[in-house]
Amino acid sequence: MSDASAAPNEAGRRGLEPEPVGSEEEGSLSCATRTPYHLDPMAIRDEDVIDVTPTRLTRGESLMLPSIFKGLGTTLRHCFENIGRGGSNKKNIWVLQYPEQKRDDRPVEEGGQYRPYFRGVHRLNKDEDGRVRCVACFMCATACPANCIHIVADESPWADREKYPKQFDIDELRCIYCGMCEEACPVDAIELTPHYEVTGLSRQELIFDKTKLLQVYDETIGEKPM
Ligand code: SF4
Ligand code: SF4
Repeated sequence: MSDASAAPNEAGRRGLEPEPVGSEEEGSLSCATRTPYHLDPMAIRDEDVIDVTPTRLTRGESLMLPSIFKGLGTTLRHCFENIGRGGSNKKNIWVLQYPEQKRDDRPVEEGGQYRPYFRGVHRLNKDEDGRVRCVACFMCATACPANCIHIVADESPWADREKYPKQFDIDELRCIYCGMCEEACPVDAIELTPHYEVTGLSRQELIFDKTKLLQVYDETIGEKPM
């Protein structure tokens, strides 16, 4: 096919007359036509195109004063509207007095946490025999965009797998809780739990090792069964 036949037919895109595509010399393409614009479901209509060319500011706008006062007005309006309401019963504003109140306690429609899908702190799952499910394949560490999973593999002491993680660390401070590790794992060994209150007095405390990750499993299995 020549370049001429591959190039977009501009007239056809604009909804003008259907135009032949290709040329007489191209044999089979000589009678082909583009779908008229108004019949093409994928086309963008002219009225849907938004012109985002910046306009010049007027003299008044260039002083920024109208915008400043408008912004202050909005702030004051919200301030007065919320006086005496505790911020919790105004439409579309869901203020939580954390930690006394938590998103976990609210319905999802009112800004609550949807626990089955929430991506919080990790856990390493165990199998039916209480062993770590991980087979040290490194898929999670490879998929992790934050590079915060460190695994040391060793020969497995069990007959049903080749390797197991001798060491498995996740830096919970470096993690961006994207869930890619969970997606990548072929044996459902790593999961993110709904727990988000991760605290510690040092960075080292927040590097969760294998023991800690298995402990999180024991503590959360009731909330998020395998
Ligand atoms: S949730 Fe994302 S950033 Fe965190 S360990 Fe998993 S893959 Fe890495
Ligand atoms: S947690 Fe899953 S993906 Fe990561 S090394 Fe273990 S088996 Fe592989």
